[in-house]
Amino acid sequence: MELAERVEALPDGPGVYLFKTAAGRVLYVGKAQNLRGRVRSYLGGGDGRPNILLLIERIQAVDVVVTASVKDALLLENELIKRHKPPFNVRLRDDKQYLALRLDPRETWPRLTQVRRFRRDGAWYFGPYTSSVAMRESVSNLRRILPLRSCREAVFRDYARRGRPCIEFEMKRCPGPCCGLISREGYDELVRGTALFLRGRSEELAETLKQRMREASAAERFEEAARLRNQLQAVERTVESQQMVSTQAIDRDVFALAREGGEIEVQALHVRDGRVRGTEGFGFSDVRLDDGEVMSSFLGQYYGAEEGREIPAEVLTPLPIEDEGALEALFAERTGRRVALRTPRRGRLVELLATARANAELGLRHRLEARESLDAAGEELQQALGLSGFPRHIEGYDVSTLGGTLTVASRVVFRDGQPSKAEYRRYRIRDAAPDDDLACLREVFARRLARAESEPLPDLMLVDGGKGQLSVLSTALADAGLETDAISLAKERDAESPSLRVRRGGGLKSERVFLPNRRDPVSLPASSRALLLLQRIRDESHRFAIEFQRGLRSKAGLVSILEEIPGIGPGKRRALLRELGSLRAVRSASLERLAAVAGISRRDATTLRGFFDALAPPGEAEPEPSEEGAR
Ligand code: SF4
Repeated sequence: MELAERVEALPDGPGVYLFKTAAGRVLYVGKAQNLRGRVRSYLGGGDGRPNILLLIERIQAVDVVVTASVKDALLLENELIKRHKPPFNVRLRDDKQYLALRLDPRETWPRLTQVRRFRRDGAWYFGPYTSSVAMRESVSNLRRILPLRSCREAVFRDYARRGRPCIEFEMKRCPGPCCGLISREGYDELVRGTALFLRGRSEELAETLKQRMREASAAERFEEAARLRNQLQAVERTVESQQMVSTQAIDRDVFALAREGGEIEVQALHVRDGRVRGTEGFGFSDVRLDDGEVMSSFLGQYYGAEEGREIPAEVLTPLPIEDEGALEALFAERTGRRVALRTPRRGRLVELLATARANAELGLRHRLEARESLDAAGEELQQALGLSGFPRHIEGYDVSTLGGTLTVASRVVFRDGQPSKAEYRRYRIRDAAPDDDLACLREVFARRLARAESEPLPDLMLVDGGKGQLSVLSTALADAGLETDAISLAKERDAESPSLRVRRGGGLKSERVFLPNRRDPVSLPASSRALLLLQRIRDESHRFAIEFQRGLRSKAGLVSILEEIPGIGPGKRRALLRELGSLRAVRSASLERLAAVAGISRRDATTLRGFFDALAPPGEAEPEPSEEGAR
């Protein structure tokens, strides 16, 4: 059936539509009250907006999913945008690094912890904070007023056993629950106060403190009354330091949008108790939708269930939102109360919108400036290396090994100079010999290029290393019949001896870029923006690989890692442990001492020593695994 005929046969109820290419790639996902009407308005030629024309030209197929209501369509639209990542939708990046605080009131002695994800696990979450500085400031203010314990369970138990509190108690930053120095009721009060403070309800907190201070005074508990007075004064100071923007106690999120061509900045202003408690900015590039569509799609994702954000009583938007009723119904369902979506035209609320707008414009300006400098770096890179296209989308690769064990590789992705963490990949080497760097890279590139259909190739592929590494990449591309620019970046010592991949220590001289079919590397000036960009990508891929390896290492434990050392079988492991007494002793033994163990040759000893040296210097603590999960 022709596309036009298909459109006429579409249902006229609510649902979601997906515009696709002939190969099935989803270009755009939208929701509609009337599917046929909406799709027809796009494809029937009625929509002459130049930015939409580019989308229309590429549409070869349309799929629709009928839903019971527009509200259901909204939910489905969000889900499909997340799943297909269509290039013509605005998409809240799921790799945004949230910083939030978590407090679980069900713990015996609750404490605040820093987290990067909101979960529906019954705990209380506060934030997100846009920077760790903002979060630390908030916590340090808070701990002066309402100190909760900060220690982990093991430390708590340890001090409880010793019967004396740690230095935190002396510094008045913990009330000492480990040693029974605060009552259960007293601690619960602190937990409740903490929640009020972090939710921005400082005035409510001040009232509670005032009330308790009066009670303590009346009962002649003067010490307690003095402590409460100090807390009260600190809370009042905090309240004064925050600008009052509304006399109404209604909680609001205020949104504004600034635009320059396809560049858009959306700004959120969080007003709680009449005061601005935080802001968040989101940038989108190459947007072809109009502002109304952007705002509607943005809000659906911003308050999506999995984002875990608090939905306030009022949401102010800079322009009326299509499907406003459906969004309100969705929010009401989620919060169990009414949520109003408004676009004020006059009065104080318009001033709030203007404040948000000013922030959005500022954010946009910063981003455009950063983009300009990035464009300059991209142009420099293109010219200096003779690349075939502008390197807007770059992938960086690195292999990391621990003396031939736990060999892993990483792929990082940069778009417009920014890391796109959702697209990062970690590879465990499956088939290649783990101590053969080039073979490992060969395996990684084969796996990457096999997915070229679903994950289009970047403008530039960068591998850490010298000629050898680049040659593996070029061959892999040629074998797969694919083309894109490929380079390798090597520190001078790497380049001189590509098999010696120096990871530690100094002595690094300069960086050299290798290009296919060119004998001599290109040396970019140390101050060049292009080189800085390449270095950033290479260092990030290195960091990411190491982080993955550390996670595996701490999961595997030293004993099982020992089992992976080539040539050290069960008999030799037993001999080492028997003679040296412990793993720790094995790890810190000198080459000579290891070689003196019966059954251990000098070669074995060298392998072992090399392995432990690569692992970490003796006595150095094993690093904590990263918070980020391996993909
Ligand atoms: S005083 Fe006790 S409860 Fe408080 S931080 Fe120290 S160990 Fe933890």
